[in-house]
Amino acid sequence: MQLSPVTKPPPTVICYICGREFGSKSISIHEPQCLKKWHLENDKLPKNMQRPEPKKPEVRPIGAKGSYDIVAINEAAWQSAQSQLVACDICGRTFLSDRLLIHQRSCKPKKTK
Ligand SMILES: [Zn+2]
Ligand SMILES: [Zn+2]
Repeated sequence: MQLSPVTKPPPTVICYICGREFGSKSISIHEPQCLKKWHLENDKLPKNMQRPEPKKPEVRPIGAKGSYDIVAINEAAWQSAQSQLVACDICGRTFLSDRLLIHQRSCKPKKTK
């Protein structure tokens, strides 16, 4: 009996805006939508918390064939997504902008005794 070849899982790509993983096909659909959503949410933030639009990190192709290093791309995308997080000015934890607004409804300054 022959062993069935190991099927590679489809490569996942990290969205540079929200930091979530997507299939290499759905990322191209997701990214423009995610950026749109990002703008909507950024507009809702108080002026002092608004951020410049995230830029897609550029990773140079490696190797003679000009293939991209998916790990490097994902790492750059992850870093980019992390820089999109907004710090809560009450407790200092970082959140995605939409989460922050929800969080701040229930975040109370710590009472110091
Ligand atoms: Zn996204
Ligand atoms: Zn907080």
